[in-house]
Amino acid sequence: MTLMDKIQQMTLSRKASTLESVTTSTGSKCPHCGGTGWIRHWEDGKEYFSECVCRKKQIAESRLRFANIPETFKHMRLKNFSVTAYKDEKSKAVIRAACKYIKQYMDGFENEHRDGMGLYLYSQTKGSGKTRMAASIANELVDMGYQVKFSLSTEIIQEIKRTWDRDNDLSESKLLDQLQETDILVIDDFGTEQVAGWINDKFYQIINNRYVDQRVTIFTSNYPLDQLEYDDRITNRMKEVSYLIAFPEESVRETISAEKNEAMFCRVSGR
Ligand SMILES: [Zn+2]
Repeated sequence: MTLMDKIQQMTLSRKASTLESVTTSTGSKCPHCGGTGWIRHWEDGKEYFSECVCRKKQIAESRLRFANIPETFKHMRLKNFSVTAYKDEKSKAVIRAACKYIKQYMDGFENEHRDGMGLYLYSQTKGSGKTRMAASIANELVDMGYQVKFSLSTEIIQEIKRTWDRDNDLSESKLLDQLQETDILVIDDFGTEQVAGWINDKFYQIINNRYVDQRVTIFTSNYPLDQLEYDDRITNRMKEVSYLIAFPEESVRETISAEKNEAMFCRVSGR
């Protein structure tokens, strides 16, 4: 370190301590930036700012709030997705194959994201792990810094209906814009709803616009894609931009809740 560096460092620490303090949302001031979220540096007499860790943390927290992943799955990641819960031999083979595909997908996510390629996780049996997997993927993507929104299909319909109330500040078109513009949208339990004409139209609008903009959509469903009640315009779009991944026809809901010490995991992420 040269003398010049030392002087600059001293200047930096003095400047940092005089920065105007802003109290963070938690009420305590960050010791690094005094709550401003930015750290000031000086280089060759010029002033620079870099993002403080506390600001990064706050952004990550708000990203997580936005994602709205169900509380039950908060800790789910690909590495703790249990495959031992499946008892049937056929189920074990199916879930291993599913994990393998999903690992490949996640490993190459940057490219899949660019191309707008999503996933369609399906099996006719409820409780077969589709939602757990979708939530695990969503958590991983939030961790990676992507904007993700997790929504039940029926919730989307309810939300649209709520915008029809005169008192609601959020207009229908604004809500649809949000659903269309969210970077990564997870639609859980797609196809369980009764497909009235208007529902078909709204989902076409959402799915088609996301398709055009090459935005990733991840679906879970109790139906194979070609058995959905939605019309071909929707399912054809979905087919083009989704990797279809079969899940076991076995419910593991009870086994999973009973299984505390999982001996073997689906090591898809390697992390
Ligand atoms: Zn800070």
